[in-house]
Amino acid sequence: MKKARPERSRWVYLDYAATTPLDPRVLEVMMPYMKEKFGNPSSVHSWGRKAREAVELARKQVADNLGCRTSEIYFTGTTTTSDNLAIQGVARAAKKAGQGNHLITSSIEHHGVLDTCQALRREGFKLTVLPVDKYGLVDPKDVEKAIDDKTVLVTIMDANNEVGTIEPIKEISQITKRKGALLHTDAAAAVDYLDVNVKNLGVDLMTIGAHKFGGPKGVGVLYVKKGVEIEPLTFGGHHERGLWPGTEAPALIVGIAEALEIATQERKEAVEKVTRLRDRLIKGVLTKVSDSQLTGHPAKRLPDIASFVIKGVEGEAILLMLSDKGIAASSGSACTSGTLEPSHVLTAMGIPAEKAHGSLRFSLGKSTTQEDIDYVIRVLPGIIEKLRKMAPKGI
Ligand SMILES: *Cc1c(COP(=O)(O)O)cnc(C)c1O
Repeated sequence: MKKARPERSRWVYLDYAATTPLDPRVLEVMMPYMKEKFGNPSSVHSWGRKAREAVELARKQVADNLGCRTSEIYFTGTTTTSDNLAIQGVARAAKKAGQGNHLITSSIEHHGVLDTCQALRREGFKLTVLPVDKYGLVDPKDVEKAIDDKTVLVTIMDANNEVGTIEPIKEISQITKRKGALLHTDAAAAVDYLDVNVKNLGVDLMTIGAHKFGGPKGVGVLYVKKGVEIEPLTFGGHHERGLWPGTEAPALIVGIAEALEIATQERKEAVEKVTRLRDRLIKGVLTKVSDSQLTGHPAKRLPDIASFVIKGVEGEAILLMLSDKGIAASSGSACTSGTLEPSHVLTAMGIPAEKAHGSLRFSLGKSTTQEDIDYVIRVLPGIIEKLRKMAPKGI
């Protein structure tokens, strides 16, 4: 008899902030557009018309869920694409119109925002990168002070994907409105758990990407408020009213719309369930792992993020040993060309580099169970102990 491969006792995916699994309900609405309804939305025949209808219906669905008009919704490639389009598009349009050349962002943004702003700075734009406090919060007063008559765009994330801190976007939007600057927010990490109604937030531009909330990879949305001057970055057609040319991807577009609809409908329930599990995990780690510390704001944080720094260990090493136990997590440090660079987010929060190397992020999802959490709390202390024994003194 063939011997069965030994089964791992558990598989626990706690890296939802990196990507979520595709919701089967989303896949179901996508499938026809990958099969029989394969038409090009720009074609005049019935194949094309069916695809066009689906794209425009999806646009309506997205607009309804974000609280805006269909004409304010653009489908793009990813969150990163939308960030680039928002920031570069507004900056270039403003500069051309002689309206200013100053951008403001924060030091804890995703690289999709931070690197875009830095690229514009190298081109001659002025850039202010605002500091954050030890919890990762931007102070609205700092935004107010930084805005001058040359400021064209402020871009601050809605919630941080590494440490979960929720930024005071509503307060910031009141300031940008009063001072006559535009406000963009990257809300990619927030969709499953926070209100992303653009009117409630008061933003002029907003970015989201489907694969962070049960949708497919490779599709994002950019909201651009009516009247905001924005230029395309690429050229080649009339698609998305010339702002994001190239044949639309109907399957991905109906996918992001359905995922957003589900996220909106299930948000209240998800917040309650995931917050309870996250708090159980935080408490478990802080009590069972000595010299561990929560990162991010203790209360103003996303329901799904349990992030820590753990003294005397390397984040990457924890991840490998967790992976051996069937657990997926992530660490702020990224191994680039052999050197471990501490996360820019943790560094901006004033966490010293040697401490930041021990960063560990669990991000939960709607399908996370209490058994998953308890399993992690059971195995993590042993892993940390083992790694500390292996580590040379002084790390
Ligand atoms: C994941 C993420 C992004 C980038 O998403 P892509 O799909 O890789 O483009 C940008 N911003 C935030 C806040 C994110 O969480």
